[in-house]
Amino acid sequence: MNIPHEKQLVIASNRLPFVVGRDHDGALEVRPASGGLVTAMLPILRENGGTWIGWTGLPEKDDCSAAALAQSAGDPGFNVVPVSLSDEEVVGFYEGFSNEIIWPLFHDLPSFCEFAPSHWDYYLQVNRKFARAIADNAAPDSLVWVHDYHLINVGTELRRHGARLRTAFFLHIPFPSIDMFMKLPWRQSLLRSLLEYGLIGFQTLRDRRNFVQCLRQLFRDVSVSGKGQVLQVGVGDRRVAVGHFPIGIDFADFARRAAAPEVRERARALHNLLPDRQLFFGVDRLDYTKGILLRLRAFREALIRHPELRQRVTLIQVVVPSREHISRYFDLRTQIEQLVSRINGEFTEPGGWVPIHYVFRSLDPVDLLAYYRAAEVALVTPLKDGMNLVAKEYCTCSIEENCVLVLSEFAGAAAQLRSGALMVNPHDIEGVADAIYRAFCMPEEERRRRMRRMRREIMRRDLFWWVSSFFNAVSKEVPHELQTNQSDEHGALVDGANPADAQPRELQRRAS
Ligand code: UDP
Repeated sequence: MNIPHEKQLVIASNRLPFVVGRDHDGALEVRPASGGLVTAMLPILRENGGTWIGWTGLPEKDDCSAAALAQSAGDPGFNVVPVSLSDEEVVGFYEGFSNEIIWPLFHDLPSFCEFAPSHWDYYLQVNRKFARAIADNAAPDSLVWVHDYHLINVGTELRRHGARLRTAFFLHIPFPSIDMFMKLPWRQSLLRSLLEYGLIGFQTLRDRRNFVQCLRQLFRDVSVSGKGQVLQVGVGDRRVAVGHFPIGIDFADFARRAAAPEVRERARALHNLLPDRQLFFGVDRLDYTKGILLRLRAFREALIRHPELRQRVTLIQVVVPSREHISRYFDLRTQIEQLVSRINGEFTEPGGWVPIHYVFRSLDPVDLLAYYRAAEVALVTPLKDGMNLVAKEYCTCSIEENCVLVLSEFAGAAAQLRSGALMVNPHDIEGVADAIYRAFCMPEEERRRRMRRMRREIMRRDLFWWVSSFFNAVSKEVPHELQTNQSDEHGALVDGANPADAQPRELQRRAS
């Protein structure tokens, strides 16, 4: 892997790469977190040193110092810098701006947005905290890699702070189309902030295209040059590189763990408990973007349109608890549970067949792999998703290559897996029902042909390819000698755009 030779890689993400809690006696408990970013970055940071800046997730009253955290983490081999958030900041920045504005808007659900001006103020405040922590911990030649939608405005705050650092940003969620993005009251500020980074990475070509289109709509003097994975974009006197880098998984590790005897045994036990049928599998965080309700309705539709599926298929739907203190998420859980029980009430037959087995908890890793291995078909039907790692993990674990992936065309993964998956529009209930039937009937040979294609692609563009292609782009596109003559606010607004957007409202209020 081409790791940048800067010793000082600084990563900033909303959460640190640890799960941090306190036990009954108040002692700090620190475990490594899971997830793609952590898996990819930890070996690099351990080898080269560096810094990870993020929130512990602890409430204000339980917060801890950097020293206590590092000690409880057992010397992780790199600097850990916790950013603490007050209870008001958690509500305004995390739950409010991040998860009730950007998250729904960037997933095409504007009616779910709570555009409260105070959320924006907290977003600025917390992004400023992160920028300060970065400036205090970065060396002049550090590469600062900022992650995801919680921290877009760090770019602007670093400039305000006078920190001239080499920076890159990666957006893990989709970037919306122009019609969606224009609804955001702070659209200009967020775009300007993205332009502060030397390299901006998106998951897919579609996201990158949306971003460039939004720039063209909101700024004058936008130029785009280059071709391939990374483009050079100019806005006024500002030059940034903009690329698409679909995140991958650790293919080799997943395939190896899926082949373990323990996983095989659990998968076999699952089939023995539910004999003579195909297992359909869905596993999603509790989130309205995952399309769980529509998927359940499509499954019901399949049982009505194709009665021969009855007794011959079981859907195992796992929902992993998430953000339940946000009322929309809590309500979603209730709706899912009511629908599961309605469908089961409608179709369960004497003799033991229950169409949907519903699990509401987080799975231990071996159980998750066993479900992946046991299921003949996976239903991955988000309304919109940055990538969707479940789709890639499922295919990777299909080591016999005889399973079927039903995949939403609105998942980022669709760009890579469309030649092997059964592609569906998750809003089209009859279409998904027919895909379920088609998956059920698909001959072995076709299953293998499709699955082989997908696994090859997932193996080729794995997690390490993702990091390495991002770093290659950084080395090529983000110069060590930073321009020092950039104007403070680059890029003129297009006629008719609201100049007030150019300045955070909080600052305007203070100025007046
Ligand atoms: N996952 C998990 N615990 C579970 C079930 C799933 O940690 O009980 C993991 C799964 O292996 C995958 C991730 O959660 O890596 C979900 O990622 P995805 O991109 O599909 O969706 P996200 O939840 O990030 O929106």
